[in-house]
Amino acid sequence: MRDATSSRPVPLALYAIGLGSNRRHVRFGDPRHVLMAALAALESDDIEPVDASPIIASVPLGPSRRRFANAVALVASPLSPPEMLGRLQAIEAAFGRRTGQRWSTRTLDLDILLWSGGAWSDAGLTIPHPAMNARGFVLGPLAAIVPEWRHPIAMRSVRQLAARLIRAKPVDPNASSH
Ligand code: ATP
Ligand code: MG
Ligand code: MG
Repeated sequence: MRDATSSRPVPLALYAIGLGSNRRHVRFGDPRHVLMAALAALESDDIEPVDASPIIASVPLGPSRRRFANAVALVASPLSPPEMLGRLQAIEAAFGRRTGQRWSTRTLDLDILLWSGGAWSDAGLTIPHPAMNARGFVLGPLAAIVPEWRHPIAMRSVRQLAARLIRAKPVDPNASSH
């Protein structure tokens, strides 16, 4: 990717994006197909797809009863974290996501899990995603594509975090949601 005004290469960051859906889309169909369409929609002039995990089906937690489809995408982009969040929220809106109901049924949820810049925290955005270490539906797909990525706060690799979660029994169903 190049800066349009100077044709200098722009520094790229890597982002791991968590995708979730538990609601049909009128055009794309069931949650699995919603995620396939969302993976395609992520690609743009300044968001370059690098890798994507398999799409998994997971059991719903929290107030929603429906099954989720979840996946993780790895993308390269010159966008800053707030710019990336804005872009993800625009895609959610384009998929018919209604705002204001955290953990409710939703056509599409796009969360920033990790970025190559390390930790980020402002009023509207926290990276790494604060709940990711407790969520198998995040760590499983993440470990499928970036097992060696080190969580900058836990100081453990994604592979280690996933293994630790599998060992930690029983799972508290109220500890996290999608
Ligand atoms: P959870 O964050 O527990 O997965 P959710 O994804 O359902 O819940 P949303 O309704 O999608 O929650 O987002 C609520 C707010 O979370 C957003 O407005 C956004 O500003 C904020 N947020 C903070 N950190 C992140 C992040 N890493 N990725 C996406 N959104 C974030
Ligand atoms: Mg979200
Ligand atoms: Mg979420």
